[in-house]
Amino acid sequence: MNTTLIIGAGGVSRVVVHKCVQNADVFGKIVLASRTKSKCDDIKSELPDADIETYALDADNTQEITDLINKVKADIVINVALPYQDLTIMDACIATKTDYLDTANYEHPDEAKFEYKLQWAKDEAFKKAGIMGLLGSGFDPGVTNVFCAYAQKHYFDEIHTIDILDCNAGDHGYPFATNFNPEINLREVSANGRYWENGKWIETKPMEIKMVWDYPEVGPKDSYLLYHEEMESLVKHIKGLKRIRFFMTFGASYLTHMKCLQNIGMLGIEPVEYKGQKIIPIEFLKTLLPDPASLGSRTKGKTNIGIVAEGIRDGKKKKIYIYQVSDHEACYKEVNSQAVSYTTGVPAMVGAKLMLEKVWYKEGVHNMEEFDPDPFMEELNKQGLPWKIQEL
Ligand code: NDP
Repeated sequence: MNTTLIIGAGGVSRVVVHKCVQNADVFGKIVLASRTKSKCDDIKSELPDADIETYALDADNTQEITDLINKVKADIVINVALPYQDLTIMDACIATKTDYLDTANYEHPDEAKFEYKLQWAKDEAFKKAGIMGLLGSGFDPGVTNVFCAYAQKHYFDEIHTIDILDCNAGDHGYPFATNFNPEINLREVSANGRYWENGKWIETKPMEIKMVWDYPEVGPKDSYLLYHEEMESLVKHIKGLKRIRFFMTFGASYLTHMKCLQNIGMLGIEPVEYKGQKIIPIEFLKTLLPDPASLGSRTKGKTNIGIVAEGIRDGKKKKIYIYQVSDHEACYKEVNSQAVSYTTGVPAMVGAKLMLEKVWYKEGVHNMEEFDPDPFMEELNKQGLPWKIQEL
């Protein structure tokens, strides 16, 4: 029987644990470890019949992680802590020869870089240890990469342009809150935008480029160009690509709050002196904002995330849209989490399932689009994230 170590006990983790328990024949015993053990115990209490052990763990400490992996004899580590912990957890996986999966690229707490470089650099060490690392197995990155691979495999000889379109039309009733970890979310959306065209990255000011996209089952929404990490690996792996962009929807209230917070420096990641103490503005802001995990019960509406790919097949132009719609209330009903955590947690479980079943298995450190998309797409349909394809 397998043992699955899940690190982190936030919104995404709750979904991963529920979904792994639904697939207990593959995941076996669940070990849930995070900084605050009581949060692990809360999740465990929702699943009284499941085989779950909980531990307190400082995932910034490689030795502590190594000791826990050895103690519980984990077959795989699912990292759904924060991007700051990616490298320490990967190092513990190398030391213990244990497979690894995460949902977000490594970030340094003092410097937002949004890049895979330091994780890709561990490829050799993973190969030497005879283990696999799957990077970015959430929705975006994650499912969006798989959608691109599926389009490439079944619909195109060559894909020329890709737009990734991420819409969250959920309403939680607060004037301002983030749907996942506020620090990570606000760093991402307040940074300069960037897209890739003809082999070069083109930088934009934050929210400089806007379009309106009519999202099926949601309706037309203002969508803003952002940089998003899956583009870094997709430009390497999708052949013939000439342009890739990423758009995300934001409501007027969110944008107004964000602009004000940014103007007064509340999104800063540099320490400032306050009453003789150093504080980091964005970390302080996090303590004031609603905990994303608490939004679940009050969020209504849908998410729609997908890709539009354009290219050629048999010499003819072709354009397709692959997307997935989730309903916040339905997600909450199933696993006590809103759709943003749900759409991240389900693909994390699916990626880990395919690794444990050796359906997706290659030693080294890999991104999602490097694997056959078909089994992943089939699992999405079975595990709560059914998708659709339109020819445009
Ligand atoms: P949360 O903030 O809700 O949860 C993070 C968890 O990690 C918390 O339980 C936290 O513990 C724990 N943690 C933080 N630091 C440590 C540490 N040093 N040691 C042990 N545990 C630690 O975040 P989310 O659940 O919303 O997000 C989880 C991950 O998913 C993030 O990496 C995020 O970027 C990613 N994500 C990916 C998406 C995708 O589509 N690919 C979309 C959304 C999120 P404590 O509670 O004690 O602070």
